Amino acid sequence: MTSVTPQAKHKKAKALKSSSRRPAKELCSECGLCDTYYIHYVKEACAFLNQQIAELEMRSHTRARDLDNPDELYFGVHQTMMAARKTEPIPGAQWTGIVSSIAIEMLNRSIVEGVVCVQNTKEDRFQPMPIIARTPEEILAARVNKPTLSPNLSILEQVEQSGMKRLLVIGVGCQIQALRAVEKQLGLEKLYVLGTPCVDNVTRAGLQKFLETTSRSPDTVVHYEFMQDFRVHFKHEDGSEETVPFFGLKTNQLKDVFAPSCMSCFDYVNSLADLVVGYMGAPFGWQWLVVRNDRGQEMLDLVQDQLETQSVMSKGDRTAAVQQSIPAYDKGVTLPMWAAKLMGVVIEKIGPKGLEYARFSIDSHFTRNYLYVKRHYPEKLAAHVPEFAKRIVSQYKLPSE
Ligand code: FAD
Ligand code: SF4
Repeated sequence: MTSVTPQAKHKKAKALKSSSRRPAKELCSECGLCDTYYIHYVKEACAFLNQQIAELEMRSHTRARDLDNPDELYFGVHQTMMAARKTEPIPGAQWTGIVSSIAIEMLNRSIVEGVVCVQNTKEDRFQPMPIIARTPEEILAARVNKPTLSPNLSILEQVEQSGMKRLLVIGVGCQIQALRAVEKQLGLEKLYVLGTPCVDNVTRAGLQKFLETTSRSPDTVVHYEFMQDFRVHFKHEDGSEETVPFFGLKTNQLKDVFAPSCMSCFDYVNSLADLVVGYMGAPFGWQWLVVRNDRGQEMLDLVQDQLETQSVMSKGDRTAAVQQSIPAYDKGVTLPMWAAKLMGVVIEKIGPKGLEYARFSIDSHFTRNYLYVKRHYPEKLAAHVPEFAKRIVSQYKLPSE
């Protein structure tokens, strides 16, 4: 006789066809959950249908974010933060390859049996292809950002079917929120979560538009990043670098390029990962690490001997620049290139650095996104915006409608 396990319930659900409209409609970030029978939990699990960061923080980190601690208000529950870089960077990684190195160590030491990460398709270097990596080579082939919405959770059925019990998942905030919500249903003994911050993501078509409006040679871009020196750095196939100042971006043309999910996201810092690896709280050229809990520290310990580290620092005052950015973005202001370059040079010299740069980026995105939700989804505003984001936004004067 077969008994009905709690896991069996969701197996009766059916994944949506790729052409079907998702339950979150235009707010869907294509996290991949609805490509699996875990769609059974979508109403509760989807980051855009049921924002529940505070509850999931309690579950994942065993304590709430301390909203009266300025660093926790901005960067989430954490034990430590630091700047780090690999002494021998991985060629072709997004930054120095700390994420890939941790994943490789976890496999090599059999701490996990598989790693959820995202490679690209053969035909298109920016088209995401989520996989469960079981070898270091497969992890290395997933290095570098695919700066597009990526259905990382679409492989969750394969995880359950493979019988794996110890898993590492690498992902961005919306994917990790849904993952945490269904974590108990996956039948795992141990789940490690290695997150990156994420903002302003785009569909593959949106990415093409961004590259075509911003780069001198859109088809040869292999890597790009919005860096701490207020410039977008493009790397091309031939190894050459191109930089474009943020203030020179054609915001009027780019306004619609970002996915509606990303225009209404307040989980920039990936609140629910055990360890977060980004760059924006670190000096130029360094990565920024946020250890949220013991499991995150355990992951970081595996690569300590491959890293050079320094304490986080903070310099400058972001508030005036953020306040000015609010109406400028709203009106789609684009400066002529000479003025944008000049502004870039000045702001790099006197502008916010380290954690203050991270706060600058969080503030400008949260104020923009708050206005977006207020205008497009007023009925969602109260429940969808987490308390920490409401406090951050309340520091600024927003245009009256
Ligand atoms: P690598 O060793 O090169 O590994 C990169 C890993 O990212 C791979 O394992 C791959 O599986 C995973 N990955 C790639 N694309 C995606 C995707 N679309 N969805 C989920 N996982 C993916 N950091 C900041 O500090 N501020 C930001 O604003 C910021 N924006 C980001 C936006 C996106 C879309 C992404 C994917 C990352 C962003 N990051 C941001 C993180 C940062 O760019 C680096 O990814 C991070 O510092 C790790 O660098 P690395 O060299 O250690 O990674
Ligand atoms: Fe489903 Fe994920 Fe889209 Fe929400 S964001 S509707 S969970 S695929």
